[in-house]
Amino acid sequence: MEQNTKQRSNDAPHRIVIVGGGAGGLELATRLGNTVGRKRRAEVLLVDRYPTHFWKPLLHEAASGHIDPAQHDISYAVQAKRHSFRFVQGDFKALDSNERRITVASMVDEENREIVPAQQIPYDTLVLAVGSVTNFFNVAGAEEEALRLENVEQAEQFRRKLLAACFRAGHEKNRTGGSEEPLVNVNIIGGGATGVELAASVRDAVEHFADYRFAALDPTKDICVRVIEGNDRVLPGLSPELSAAALSHLLRLNVQIMTKARVIEVRKDALLTAAGDVLPSDLTLWAAGVAGAPSLSHCPGLRLNRNGQMLINTTLQSVADPRIYAIGDCASIDPNLGTGWPITAQAAHQQAVYLASALAANLTLKNISEFRYRDGGTLVSFGSAGAVGRVASQMPPITISVKGSLARILYALIYRRHLVFVTGTLRASAATVSQWIKGRLSPPVRLH
Ligand SMILES: Cc1cc2nc3c(=O)[nH]c(=O)nc-3n(C[C@H](O)[C@H](O)[C@H](O)COP(=O)(O)OP(=O)(O)OC[C@H]3O[C@@H](n4cnc5c(N)ncnc54)[C@H](O)[C@@H]3O)c2cc1C
Repeated sequence: MEQNTKQRSNDAPHRIVIVGGGAGGLELATRLGNTVGRKRRAEVLLVDRYPTHFWKPLLHEAASGHIDPAQHDISYAVQAKRHSFRFVQGDFKALDSNERRITVASMVDEENREIVPAQQIPYDTLVLAVGSVTNFFNVAGAEEEALRLENVEQAEQFRRKLLAACFRAGHEKNRTGGSEEPLVNVNIIGGGATGVELAASVRDAVEHFADYRFAALDPTKDICVRVIEGNDRVLPGLSPELSAAALSHLLRLNVQIMTKARVIEVRKDALLTAAGDVLPSDLTLWAAGVAGAPSLSHCPGLRLNRNGQMLINTTLQSVADPRIYAIGDCASIDPNLGTGWPITAQAAHQQAVYLASALAANLTLKNISEFRYRDGGTLVSFGSAGAVGRVASQMPPITISVKGSLARILYALIYRRHLVFVTGTLRASAATVSQWIKGRLSPPVRLH
């Protein structure tokens, strides 16, 4: 790989490097590969720390064991081969915007022996799509003791701990005959979409665990799943009517809800609230906020906001360097230049679509319009118990509240749409059929 962009000949292809193959980055690499990559008008290279892509909005279903993540993985290497881009696996560590190159850390094996040394990758255009991480807001003990839901490993960790807690409780109940208090306490901090979707999924999972593996446990009485929210209602970002509908779904599923409650300390086996309540906790998951990925803070050439996100303009370019773009959770518009958009896969997808055509247009020096976020609505799923949300359209400008089966179908279609965008209609349909068959042949949740 070349070390210095400045020594390139004029007819060398333009190098577009995309860091992060998530909801935004993988779609962008695929679209650019299919257009400018295939016609050799540019070299498109994707960097991700993992070998496979997993669509983050499915993480709560992986954490509760409703899906097997391996069935939903997309191999970056295969995707790159099919869609005319290159893939490098590694951790993005540093940016030298003067020399226009990034550093990707060395790759090590399980015994920490180096397999591939650190690499310097030059670019002409860089797109950062590294996503977000959990924001613990400096709450005492939270970073050390609470689980988080940022990737498949963490979802698996949650699932294994949940199963272990149920095993322990089942054994305890067989030995002692149980107690009036719950034997397993799962606390989810944050009553936004991630928190309530996970709570609903966990409640459903523990019913199945009791059916299949832990006959001694009464899931209603012995397992407490609680959502703790600082606001006066769950899903505070949605209308009060939809929050109320969500609340009734959650209560029907036996999820305990604490609103206007602020957690001020997370301990190994308990939580402390600002009101002085001490809540026992076997599993604590923090879902109360996100911040830009930490790798951005090692990039001196960028400007970040207080939340660690890269500040961009209306064409998604860094306000500090026009050769660097950012999309998805790691980016935020400079408040002096426009109004922002929500931190969602929907926004990351729209930015990927926009940037794929904007970067292609750049290569032919065509003018590009500004990025405009179009609100398509929000849907929140409670698994088999239903879904709630709103669907929005720009032309004509209307918003409709949806609940029940229609909302569930629309929710399921969001992931299918992502698969179509990334893998094409045929492969997305084949994946859907294969996942459906596997689902029919397996128990409703993973049991080990
Ligand atoms: C449980 C859960 C449920 C959600 N539900 C919804 C929903 O229903 N609808 C919705 O619109 N949004 C939802 N979201 C939010 C949505 O997942 C994110 O907004 C979206 O994934 C952001 O896309 P992205 O491309 O910016 O980042 P991501 O999809 O997070 O991708 C970031 C990529 O960057 C890679 N990466 C990060 N750092 C490095 C590094 N240093 N080096 C190399 N690679 C790196 C990661 O491996 C990852 O592949 C949900 C999120 C969660 C956690």
